[in-house]
Amino acid sequence: MVSRIIPVERFDLIIFGGTGDLARRKILPGLFKRFADGQVPDGSRIIGAARSEMDRGEFRQFAKDAVISAQGDAVEPTVLESFLEALDYVTIDALGEIGWSELSEKLQGDSVRAFYFSVGPSLFDDLAVRLQKHKLVEPDTRIVVEKPFGHDLETAKALNKVLSAYFDESQIYRIDHYLGKETVQNLMAVRFGNMLFEPLWNSQYIDHVQITVAEEVGVGGRGGYYDKSGAMRDMVQNHLMQLLCLTAMEPPAKFDPDAVRDEKLKVIRALDPVEPHHVVRGQYSETDDEKGFRDDVENAKSWTESFVALRCQVGNWRWSGTPFYLRTGKRLQARDSEIVVVFKDTPHSIFGAEAGGARNELRIQLQPDEGITLKVTIKEPGPGGMRLMDVPLDMSFAETLGDHADTPDAYERLIMDVIRGNQTLFMRDDEVEAAWAWTDPIIQGWEAVHDVPKPYDSYSQGPTDAMLLMQRDGREWREIGA
Ligand code: NAP
Repeated sequence: MVSRIIPVERFDLIIFGGTGDLARRKILPGLFKRFADGQVPDGSRIIGAARSEMDRGEFRQFAKDAVISAQGDAVEPTVLESFLEALDYVTIDALGEIGWSELSEKLQGDSVRAFYFSVGPSLFDDLAVRLQKHKLVEPDTRIVVEKPFGHDLETAKALNKVLSAYFDESQIYRIDHYLGKETVQNLMAVRFGNMLFEPLWNSQYIDHVQITVAEEVGVGGRGGYYDKSGAMRDMVQNHLMQLLCLTAMEPPAKFDPDAVRDEKLKVIRALDPVEPHHVVRGQYSETDDEKGFRDDVENAKSWTESFVALRCQVGNWRWSGTPFYLRTGKRLQARDSEIVVVFKDTPHSIFGAEAGGARNELRIQLQPDEGITLKVTIKEPGPGGMRLMDVPLDMSFAETLGDHADTPDAYERLIMDVIRGNQTLFMRDDEVEAAWAWTDPIIQGWEAVHDVPKPYDSYSQGPTDAMLLMQRDGREWREIGA
């Protein structure tokens, strides 16, 4: 097959926080994979920047360890050595003058320039000031920022204000790595590249939509951060909201950044406020071998949620009467993320209830494997009358696409989109603020009544009340890990 990958121009990518966890686990291994695929043009440079005293050789060793740890034996040593040639390092302090002149000397005038702010948001202001002071920002320079984009609407606005004081919105790339997943983009391809689904994509034919992002792990070493955040802020406001937007949005006129983001924004703004009895919060309990949530966050009185499930409604013509159920949590039965679009029953069953058969479901799975399945009803083979059964029309990428299923990790794709200057899969300032404007009242409602999260067994389906949320509506969640 002839490659139709859109090439990128030679670039300088400066990673502030180049010695941090994100750089080590995601950014550097992701860049290596793109390099190994021939997507990093000759002369491009990746410059780590942090306070740690390191020379170029030490940073290369750090990157080498990071790539090997992420990719193991699959790494071709000669390719890795060539990749490391592109790496450089500068000791720099975002809060002082150390390193800025050296960084300035290292940058090439005729390359695409991108600064990755892989540091805590409290440093954004200082980084921006110094980038401007040292005249390192050109009109098409790109700035990449990581979540969290604020803690609530007020802090998100403050963060956006800081960034907009120094950069144009067209230069800012806010990463939500869920948008970089192959299947998430495939959701758009399935919806807008086929005639089959779009006519049915509304409340006349769709009973409800379930969006689940379940994790098997607990909060791990992030207890301090997580206790101040919780599932609503950490997952719903960004990742689940983005998945909801892509499922519910109107077809954009073009697959272009502002057209897509305008449509996503309309969905967030159309969300009705959530009724308090349509939200369930939970906290995982201890097991014989593992600590419970409160011990993990080292706060015996913590009322932060490690699980949240809610029912919401997109208040527009397309979706009136079709609820969206969202749930996310830690220490659940399995790592399992998916969007399930459940269609309505046929208006009349000519086979009778005893024949069996169930509703059509389109299941878009994001984790652990990516793939799309459409559940359809057929006749059970063999004699014995008309009995119906459900079978999946399966488009699991690994099986169907063979070699082409070696899809890039979300970070790889998103970093290359930054270099290409394509903002389609990045969040715009107004989207982020609208998402907070919707989640803030829910959180404030909990605070007002001091809502206590319901305990749930570790490695379960979550609190019983989350099951009841669906059952009260005569519906059921798909089983996590099934
Ligand atoms: P981290 O491991 O704590 O790394 C922070 C980095 O910032 C280090 O390289 C540190 O290096 C550098 N740094 C700190 N103060 C600095 C200063 N004054 N000047 C220059 N560099 C400074 O954090 P991380 O996990 O990589 O996360 C980075 C950002 O990504 C955070 O905003 C986080 O919320 C976000 N994020 C992380 C993940 C993840 O999986 N890790 C996922 C999503 C989002 P020195 O100490 O050497 O200066």
